[in-house]
Amino acid sequence: MSKNYRITLLPGDGIGPEITTVAVEMLKAVGAKSGINFVFKEALIGGAAIEATGNPLPPETLAACKDSDAVMLAAIGGYQWDNLPRAQRPETGLLGLRSGLELFANLRPASIVPQLVDASSLKREVIEGVDIMVVRELTGGIYFGQPRGVFSTETGEQRGVNTMAYTGSEIDRIARVAFETAQKRTKKLCSVDKANVLEVSQFWRDRVIEIAKEYSDVELTHMYVDNAAMQLVRSPKQFDTIVTSNLFGDILSDIAAMLTGSIGMLPSASLGASGLGVFEPVHGSAPDIAGQDKANPLAQVLSAAMMLKYGLNEPEAAQQLEKAVITVLDGNYRTGDIMSPGMNPVGCKQMGELLVQALAKI
Ligand code: NAD
Repeated sequence: MSKNYRITLLPGDGIGPEITTVAVEMLKAVGAKSGINFVFKEALIGGAAIEATGNPLPPETLAACKDSDAVMLAAIGGYQWDNLPRAQRPETGLLGLRSGLELFANLRPASIVPQLVDASSLKREVIEGVDIMVVRELTGGIYFGQPRGVFSTETGEQRGVNTMAYTGSEIDRIARVAFETAQKRTKKLCSVDKANVLEVSQFWRDRVIEIAKEYSDVELTHMYVDNAAMQLVRSPKQFDTIVTSNLFGDILSDIAAMLTGSIGMLPSASLGASGLGVFEPVHGSAPDIAGQDKANPLAQVLSAAMMLKYGLNEPEAAQQLEKAVITVLDGNYRTGDIMSPGMNPVGCKQMGELLVQALAKI
């Protein structure tokens, strides 16, 4: 009996539609092989939604997401919307999606693909074997805290304000996701904060220590965020699972991403309390290469694999997508962002065709 899943597609802006096309073809192909039927429904977000409706997250989009089994997002944003008032910018749509679906946990794996070791800007011996999972808190902290804004002071000077705030329950639930993630890996968890300076960070640390009592098999360490940024570049293999707040996680996961050589290779999963997840590449909409058939679709395909694994509990189908990615890399096919001498240059579309061919042979 075939299984049916309703997937909401949010291609968004820039290279989003190009890489979504590739991932959808791969899902259809793996579905046909595995007895899985995907029903795709496309919805608007970001700049595309602003152009069509004036709203970066139309209510119909949020409703479609809530009415599906999983959401596959590509990317949002572009220069043409950068000067709009904040409430109307593409990024506001993305933040609205995360809070609307209560996606409080963002899982970002950064592991070195052996075929791409030389694409990293770091030395081979530093990065070979790196396999890190960054668990970032996604719906709290300074990106959502109140008060926020630019206000006039009593002296008439303007003052910009954002607020980094966490409740105990917000910290506890992300800590539990991180401990459970670490349990499935090497049972090492590093909590990153700035407890030497920020009260909110000291509170974060105290709560994580409290939750650690429920997971005695996991080794917990703590690191200040400035040191963590340095250590990720100096000696990344010391890390397995990292848990951190929204702002620190945003920055650290991009550093971890670059260890792997290309941001075009990295998927992510955002999970909520309800079990509904949004699966998206770590990279943005890459407006500099949009519409030129230059985008690397592999992060989007690997995001589809994370969707199968974490969102739909279809680990075998997920593995087939991952194997297809490795097969095309073994065939020495590369998009521009991961190109190195002697490799075969391909565009987004051709990479998609090669992936489908590779999948057919698995
Ligand atoms: P970006 O990730 O879009 O691009 C950074 C660089 O990496 C660019 O040179 C780009 O060409 C390259 N790149 C990114 N993805 C690639 C891919 N799949 N294949 C090949 N090359 C790739 O980041 P940016 O330039 O800082 O931001 C561009 C826009 O994207 C902005 O509007 C920003 O707000 C938005 N953005 C969106 C998200 C998201 O949707 N989650 C995340 C980050 C940035």
